[in-house]
Amino acid sequence: MRNFKIIQFIMAAYAIVFLLAACNSTEPMVKQESIIGKTVEEIVQIMTIDEKIGQMTQVDRRYLEDINDIKRFYLGSLLSGGGSTPDPNTPEAWADKLDEYQALASETRLGIPLIYGVDAVHGHSNVVGATIMPHNVGLGATRNPDLVEELSRITAREVRATGINWTFAPCVANSRDERWGRSFESFSEDVTLVTSLSRASVRGLQGTDLSAPDAIAACAKHFIADGGTTYGTGLGGLIDRGDTQIDDTTLRELHLPPYVASIEAGAATIMTSFSSWNGEKCHGHAYLMNRLLKEELGFEGFIVSDWRGIDDLPGDYKSDIIQSITAGMDMIMVPGDINNNINHQQAGSSYKTFLTLFKEAVEDGDIPMERIDDAVMRILKVKESMGLLNSAWHNDRALLATVGSAEHRETSRQAVRESVVMLKNEENILPLSKDLGKIVVAGRGADNVGMQCGGWTISWQGSSGDITPGTTVLEGVQETVSTETEVVHSVDGSEVGGANAVIVVVGEDPYAEMVGDREELFLSQEDLDVIHRVKAADVPYIVVLLSGRPMIITDILENADAFLAAWWPGTEGNGITDIIFGDYAPTGKLPFSWPASMDQIPVNSGDDDYAPLFAFGYGLSFE
Ligand code: BGC
Ligand code: BGC
Repeated sequence: MRNFKIIQFIMAAYAIVFLLAACNSTEPMVKQESIIGKTVEEIVQIMTIDEKIGQMTQVDRRYLEDINDIKRFYLGSLLSGGGSTPDPNTPEAWADKLDEYQALASETRLGIPLIYGVDAVHGHSNVVGATIMPHNVGLGATRNPDLVEELSRITAREVRATGINWTFAPCVANSRDERWGRSFESFSEDVTLVTSLSRASVRGLQGTDLSAPDAIAACAKHFIADGGTTYGTGLGGLIDRGDTQIDDTTLRELHLPPYVASIEAGAATIMTSFSSWNGEKCHGHAYLMNRLLKEELGFEGFIVSDWRGIDDLPGDYKSDIIQSITAGMDMIMVPGDINNNINHQQAGSSYKTFLTLFKEAVEDGDIPMERIDDAVMRILKVKESMGLLNSAWHNDRALLATVGSAEHRETSRQAVRESVVMLKNEENILPLSKDLGKIVVAGRGADNVGMQCGGWTISWQGSSGDITPGTTVLEGVQETVSTETEVVHSVDGSEVGGANAVIVVVGEDPYAEMVGDREELFLSQEDLDVIHRVKAADVPYIVVLLSGRPMIITDILENADAFLAAWWPGTEGNGITDIIFGDYAPTGKLPFSWPASMDQIPVNSGDDDYAPLFAFGYGLSFE
């Protein structure tokens, strides 16, 4: 009897513990409808309208009003825009965040994981400590698709290490005007070169199997002809987000081939351009999205809009939603920045407004259900090919050790070596001997990782200074020369007396879209002053230009003994010093025609009266 009571007591205690555990559990209250083993078509059939709309919506993580909105609104995607980073900005913190977001997505009824996008456009470039590679302009100078593929493999590995599975890259723009603040995101003015490097990049990012643990989805952008806009038609009367005024044949010749190649290479996604084509915004363009991309080219992945790109369509926000999705947009980057109107006419909408208006439009029959189903199907098919719908899917932290690893940096350093274009080498001053008595390294760029990296690095526009671990040109010199050589760092170039050689590192301060648009491409007064000071000291000097594009250097070139166009090389500045000291003989060739004066711009190979300072493809080596 007594034993029986004890058993009863134990059982009751167990029941209480069990109940308490159940209440505390983080398991979802709604029983999950397993999607495992279902086809994408079957999944779409059981999805509610809210779930479908959620799949088509992408919010920037920093604008989530409540992290549980991921679950509440069944969001299909999040992004980190430029500078939308966790605090602290470490690879581990990113991985933790991503696990948190995915856990919330897994708690929805269907538990469909998020596809998470980031602008890993020259390495995993928002992350402190990642390997930052040359921007596309520099890669164009390498003429080396195998290397671009290898760099993209590295980017994919570092991105996946942080739990992210999608990059908004490659930018396959064919930039036709250097005044455009995104020229550096373009491989070249030459469509054949852009096409070959775009293909290589997609291959590298996605690998041979998109579901592999070190592969990420690529995004060819910005569709279409973002680099072809007419100067004066863009924001602020400049060029970004302007109007591309060319006929259909020219559009297809100059701007379509990189998309054809990206699609052939399996690109999972394509991003629409902010710009217009003959007055009509790409974001609402049915001919471009439905007809050309999907019907004619047979693109089976999904199209994502650019940052609030639909907001700029004519009409109110609801009609923007209707027009864009009907024209073929599959996923909308909302992204939820209600207070920011620096680059749009109006302040942004909250994603809640977006979701409400979107649903109303569907219920009113303004967007056909077949279009919604097609969009969701495309998104889910991409997720399926990424292995996201598979029960075994998870983020693999083992890759964290590779972020910014010596091996990755070495490949990027090779890319820097191959990207530098030698424009002048009077009396073979280069390569310098490693045993010179005194070398001065001057200029704002001499010891400046941030300036080497340019835009889209750690923050949206990038910034000068010590923003992430890397090797500056000064450090490259210090680690290369013999112990007998005195290396002096003189930012303003005033301490050059007695130098056997001066390396002057000047150029553009970092910038990105819009902010980087320029009426003129001259060096700053500060940079000119340093160069003049060095020249006045009558010592041999080499100019290294860090810039996102060709600049007007005609006068400077005349006096300098040597001139290296190093673009924005990223964190591995010793790739530049490898050339200066002859460990690598320059092979870089100009990816853009180099204008002699402002009135020559735009200048592109094939123009009538083509007379640039240096033609497309120019580049010296050692004799
Ligand atoms: C840019 C895209 C970028 C997106 C997300 C936009 O403003 O045009 O290139 O992928 O923001 O950051
Ligand atoms: C974001 C960028 C985005 C840009 C577009 C910025 O606030 O950080 O990623 O491309 O806005 O306007």
